Formats: sequence, C-alpha cells, structure tokens
Amino acid sequence: MTPPPDRVPADVPGDVSGGPGDDFSAEYVARARELRRGVWPVAVGGRAAGLGLVLALGLTGGGAGLVAGFGGAWAARVAGAAVTLVLLPEALGLPFGARGRVVRRRFGLITQGWGGWWADVLRGLLISLPLTAGALFAVYALAGVTGHWWVWAALGAAAVTVLLSWAAPLVFEPLFNRFTPMAPGPLRDALLALAERDGVTVEDVLVADASRRTTALNAYVSGFGRTRRIVVYDTLLSTADPREVELVVAHELGHVVHRDVPRGTALGALGAAAGVCVLAAVVTWRPLLDLAGADGFADPRSAWLLAAVASVGGAVAAPLGAAVSRRVERRADRHALELTADPAGFIAMQRRLTVVNVGEPSPPRALHLLFGTHPAPAERIAAARAWRVPG
Ligand SMILES: [Zn+2]
Repeated sequence: MTPPPDRVPADVPGDVSGGPGDDFSAEYVARARELRRGVWPVAVGGRAAGLGLVLALGLTGGGAGLVAGFGGAWAARVAGAAVTLVLLPEALGLPFGARGRVVRRRFGLITQGWGGWWADVLRGLLISLPLTAGALFAVYALAGVTGHWWVWAALGAAAVTVLLSWAAPLVFEPLFNRFTPMAPGPLRDALLALAERDGVTVEDVLVADASRRTTALNAYVSGFGRTRRIVVYDTLLSTADPREVELVVAHELGHVVHRDVPRGTALGALGAAAGVCVLAAVVTWRPLLDLAGADGFADPRSAWLLAAVASVGGAVAAPLGAAVSRRVERRADRHALELTADPAGFIAMQRRLTVVNVGEPSPPRALHLLFGTHPAPAERIAAARAWRVPG
C-alpha cells in the first residue's frame, strides 16, 4: 500500500514501495542504508570513546588523581568524583552527538535547533548530576562504615530502578515535552474504544509536542491504574492515517496487557542488584585498586575504577537487554494483530514508521543482534503477513 502523497513527509521520495510484493523500493533501501552508514560509525565511535575514557582513567592513577585534585576532604572528593564522572564523558560525547545530529538533519529527521539541543543537554545534566552524586555519596558513606556495603548498595540499586521507572513518565518526561489532552473527535473515541475492548482502563488520551525536536513517530501508554493514559506524538497525528495511529496504540496496549513495564522493571531491578554484587567483587580486588591508585574501595579515589567496571558490565549486558526487548516487542505486535485483526493496517503502519524514521527494512545482522531493541521492519511485516485469525 502506498501512502497518500500529501501525507508523505517532504524529504521522502513520493513512492517508497517497490514493485508488486516489494514493501520498499530499491531507492528507499539505498537511502536508508546511506543514513545508517552515516550514523552508526558515529554512534559506535561515541560509545567506544566513552568506554575508552573510563577505562583509561579508571585502570590507571588518572581518575584517582582527578578526584584527589578536589582536596583532601572526603565529601569534596566524593563530589569531585561525581562531577568529573558526569562531565568528562558528557563532554567527550558531545562532538559525536552533534555529528550524528548533522547527519540525521540532512535526512530531514531533526526539527530542533542547536539552542534547543544545548538546552536538552543541560536538562540531562541537571538529572544525571544529582543522581550520580546521590549514588556515590550513599555508596562511599556505606563503604566507610561496613564491609557489607554491597548488600545495601544492591538493594538500593533495585529500589532506584523501580523508583526511576515510576518517575520517568511523571517527572522526567514533562521536563522535555508538553502534553495536552487530545481534542474530542472520532480518533480519540476510537482509541478509547480500543483500550476498552482490550480491558485496559485509560484516564485520557494525551498528545506530546515531539515535533519540536524530531520527525520520529511514537506513542506509548504510561501511568498505572487510574492514572493510565495513552500518549501519542503529534508527529504521528500529522503524518499517519487514523487507522495507523490505532494500530500503533494497539501495539502499545499489548505492552500494558502483558505487563511489560512492571515485568521489565522487576527484571531491571534484579539485574541492577546482581550487577552491584558482581561490581563489588571486582572493585574490591586488590590488584585493581592498586592499578587505580586507591587505598581501598572506601577511598573515593576508587570512583573512576567503579565507573570503568560498571561501564564494561553495561556494555556486556546491553545486547542481552536488546534481545529481551525484541521478544517483548514481538509479543506486542502479535497482540496488536489479535486486537485489531487487521494485518493490512499493521503492515501500512510498519511501513510508515520505517519510512518516516528512514529505517533500514533489514539492517545488518550483527548490528541488529547487538543493538536492535525491536524486530527488524521486514521481520515485523512478514509476521503480519503470516498472521491468521485464530480458530
Ligand atoms: Zn513496543
């Protein structure tokens, strides 16, 4: 199905479908590949540089020297550790982030100006600085009084994971987007009816002003119980057909019905607690502490070593997280098909999401396995084609 011409974003070739049986034209696939080739080396390079920085400072006396530069007082050192751990990787990542933006902008994917980008960077720091400082003060205060600090740190990491999952939609998202109730009309009615048919209680349908930043399309369901609401990006409303919006929301309702947020949060909390236990075993190992120039772990000069080990752990765990996410997304896709019994609409929606984001229908396998949080578009479309009404 070809989207009506007036709804195709200006930077997308008018007809992206290939011949019969082809969902994407060769020109479109080439264009998506060009974007990936422009963006991925920058993204992977940024990650590698960040990891290189924490390893270089954490596994030498460099990080300890930085922290000691804040004076001899314990609190000054912990604060200094937090400030350097947040600001140095952020500063190193900025050129990579900016370069990625330049490429995406060339493909018409970014609507936000540089001023807004800088404001987002600062807002992000206002969140990460207090969180990092709070975590470091807690860990080093505990480590100073008990050898069992890691038990408390593991419990704390699990608790913070749960707290952040709850706070993200209520506290952090409003810092970045404005939400307004969707105007009464057939689409709002259709979305509420869809939720009701699915047995999901929804308080309201909100529209997020994502178009200030991006052309990306998205929707999600957030909140719990009575405060649960459907959130739709304004970009989705302005580019997609109402039927496609319904199919996106049907997928999101799948996440609610299968309790993906609470389950994911529980899994994340367990993972965080287990991660802290492994981390504790590694960062208290004498040869590493010697390498990092710290007297013991309780010495805040070990903070960069802590960050280095945590970063390696994070990099190793990320592909596992991506694999779990792909499973969950596949299930939500199936739910959308069962709820709507509309594979044709689902395929139209998938094509729209792919084309507007200039996504590759079948990205390279290694890249997809390492970083893909969703099944590849071609796989999602094939699954919809193979789907049949049960019974
Ligand atoms: Zn999803």
